[in-house]
Amino acid sequence: MNGAEIERLIQLLGRLPGLGPRSARRVTLHLLKKRETLMQPLSAALADAAGAIKACSICGNLDTVDPCSICADASRDAGLICVVEDVGDLWAMERGRIFSGHYHVLGGTLSALDGIGPDELNIGALIGRVRAGAVREVIVATNATVDGQTTAHYLAERLAATGVPLTRLAHGVPVGGELDWLDDGTLATAFKARRAL
Ligand SMILES: [Zn+2]
Repeated sequence: MNGAEIERLIQLLGRLPGLGPRSARRVTLHLLKKRETLMQPLSAALADAAGAIKACSICGNLDTVDPCSICADASRDAGLICVVEDVGDLWAMERGRIFSGHYHVLGGTLSALDGIGPDELNIGALIGRVRAGAVREVIVATNATVDGQTTAHYLAERLAATGVPLTRLAHGVPVGGELDWLDDGTLATAFKARRAL
């Protein structure tokens, strides 16, 4: 029906989260119609990002520079580390302008079901950062899911010996809730009302 290039585009777009085959066809058609104003700039932006993006060697954030622009920002408080599951959660915190410390991106949660243990996550580097001193508080902002809670408790155990206080986001985060889906006000409230872990 369509040329091979168009079929390939539909197939690739259909792999994006939230896009099934039908939406992928709609998006493809839209791109084809807006070739100069949307498709070409998008294609260039994708190529640029793919070539430039790297994981921050300190916190695991994705950026075009390493250390990332958050770790390198001297106006932010390096004494506070907010631990998040994913870069999307970091973005949610930044969108709400809730926090002006540093982050640590775990890259997921512990999950017995999926066979994800501590070694699969960016945990060793976090312990190293906290042990290095200068950290006054670690805010564990993993999601309010079973795996998120398990991960928070594991971190509390591993970091207990450092004596650095750990806190956890408080009420407002619904059980099973993921940070990225919270409105900024709810996330800000949960952050302010964080409690000792
Ligand atoms: Zn960083």
